[in-house]
Amino acid sequence: MLESIDHKKNSSFNPTLPLTSHVDLSHLTLDSTLADLPTHCFKVNASTLGHLVARRFEEQLTLPGVIVVNDGKILGAISRRKFLERVGRQYGVEVYLRRPIQVMLQSIKTKMLKLPSQCTIQEAAQIALRRPNHLFYEPVVIQFSSREVRILDAYVLLLAQSQLLSLVSQAEQERRQLAEAMREVGRVLSSSLDSKNVPQQVLHQLHHLVPYERGAVMLYRDGVLETVAHQGFPDDERADTLTISVQNDEDDVFLRIVKTRHPVSIGDVRLDSTWQQIAWLPLNRSWVGVPLIARDRVIGMVSLTRLEANEFTEDDINLVLTFAGQAAIALENARLYAEIVSFKEHLEQMVEQRTEELNIAYKNLERLDRTKSDFITVSAHELRTPLTAISGYAQIIKVSQVIQDDASLPVMLDGIISKVDDLSQIVNSMLDVAKIDNHSLRMYRSEVAMIAVFETIITRLKKAMDERKLTLNLSSLDELPLIHADPSLLTKAFYNIVVNAVKYTPNGGAITISGQAICLAEDIPAIEVIVSDSGTGIDPEHQELIFEKFYQTGELALHSSGHTKFKGGGPGLGLAIVKGIIIAHNGEIWVNSDGYSEEDCPGSHFHVRLPIAASDEE
Ligand code: ADP
Repeated sequence: MLESIDHKKNSSFNPTLPLTSHVDLSHLTLDSTLADLPTHCFKVNASTLGHLVARRFEEQLTLPGVIVVNDGKILGAISRRKFLERVGRQYGVEVYLRRPIQVMLQSIKTKMLKLPSQCTIQEAAQIALRRPNHLFYEPVVIQFSSREVRILDAYVLLLAQSQLLSLVSQAEQERRQLAEAMREVGRVLSSSLDSKNVPQQVLHQLHHLVPYERGAVMLYRDGVLETVAHQGFPDDERADTLTISVQNDEDDVFLRIVKTRHPVSIGDVRLDSTWQQIAWLPLNRSWVGVPLIARDRVIGMVSLTRLEANEFTEDDINLVLTFAGQAAIALENARLYAEIVSFKEHLEQMVEQRTEELNIAYKNLERLDRTKSDFITVSAHELRTPLTAISGYAQIIKVSQVIQDDASLPVMLDGIISKVDDLSQIVNSMLDVAKIDNHSLRMYRSEVAMIAVFETIITRLKKAMDERKLTLNLSSLDELPLIHADPSLLTKAFYNIVVNAVKYTPNGGAITISGQAICLAEDIPAIEVIVSDSGTGIDPEHQELIFEKFYQTGELALHSSGHTKFKGGGPGLGLAIVKGIIIAHNGEIWVNSDGYSEEDCPGSHFHVRLPIAASDEE
């Protein structure tokens, strides 16, 4: 028909633009090249008349253009659009249809875009788009490695590119969804440290990402994989204790996973000679095993199966692998936590056991202490009767004429009477201590003036202090308010403190007793009395212990060497009695001293605090 084209007929010549609606590009991926696109190979000789070319365009509606060759050499390409545009011009039919196609090629004067077939669609589209607007739809000539050249509709190239762009955004969206899912998995897994719950959670979460028929988390220890969680297994007790011993055999899939740290996938276990089917498990044909790696160590494996063969895609495996990274950290954390918990429990058990032992030891000590107190009470009572009798007889003998007639005998008898007194005092102290221990100390409270208490004490100690040339300073005691207390117990307590000051201060030293009104905690009005001396002082390590009964720091040899002699220690009961009496009055007692030194004599300061009123509870 076109061969007889004339000017008139030209009005009925109406070839359309290339058909692109039918083009199927669904097979394209992000890596596709130009070779994957529909191309055409239509070469015409430069001498072919234009109307013959027009006919081909009319017959082949998808033909985007023609390649013009001469002597096997490509001269250029003419697109269908350009062809139509030229023919449609005034005199176009005469100029182009009746003449060789070479004429049109020369008038177009555009450089043909030629690209290799391996060029990716993305690259090609970018190059095509960089061309000026009027060449936008000019066909692209594609050179294949076989030296074959084909023509590609630029419009198809752009369609392909937009298809790829939507693929990219789809992939991006999928990546985002995956990242979101992974974040959720991480959150769920890290929210639990329960070593039983975490493996189960791992399988549960994994099922959302990569559905499977049967799954198990197995931990690797000493060449054995032990099941710690499973899902989709038949209701069989054996599932809980399922173990796989990793064979030292190159073909062993589990060894491969542990050694290579890579996933292993078996498309169809029925066709795999190394596969050992567990008899009581239904056969699932696809299997994948993914290592669990934590702290650069394979700690186990996730094992998944699907019913039919070849059901795990590469994407599935990659997804399980990514997931396994998170799961391994969660499992390792849970294991470490379990270790800490068991260590803590072990420690608690030990502490409980030791506390129990200490309680028993304490009860034993308490029992022994009670026995000691009982012994003290009994022996003190037993001693007191004969002592009273000895003292009585000595008094009687002393006044008899026979004794009076011999000048030396009354002196000796005075000695006996004084030593019996000393002994009686010790026995009384033993009874006091026993009473304090048994909480049976009786108090008879009245208004007590501290100055009166100290006057009594000083009168009793005056002679000894004079002998030892000790200076005594009293300060503000007469200004102290009266206190509600037992006067004889307080006299006993402060006597013991002052007598100690006398005993542990070298001759010529000084003793100072001062007092002040103070407030105890909760504004309870009280007095504080401080007995200071310029004596030997007390080592810090003994400062609390000296208030325990029978505790002495001095040399044993000096004990009982004298009631008020320098360093003449007693039985170690004095301060225990003092403390018992002060505590019975709801008071406090402590000592301050810079340490023990017989050369420097840093001195000691005994502080006693006593509330002014008796407490309501008494
Ligand atoms: P003791 O019967 O041995 O004097 P105490 O209970 O009265 O027993 O005193 C216990 C110990 O406290 C004494 O052996 C002594 O070492 C020490 N001690 C008490 N008062 C003083 C003091 N003022 N200076 C130095 N040491 C003291």
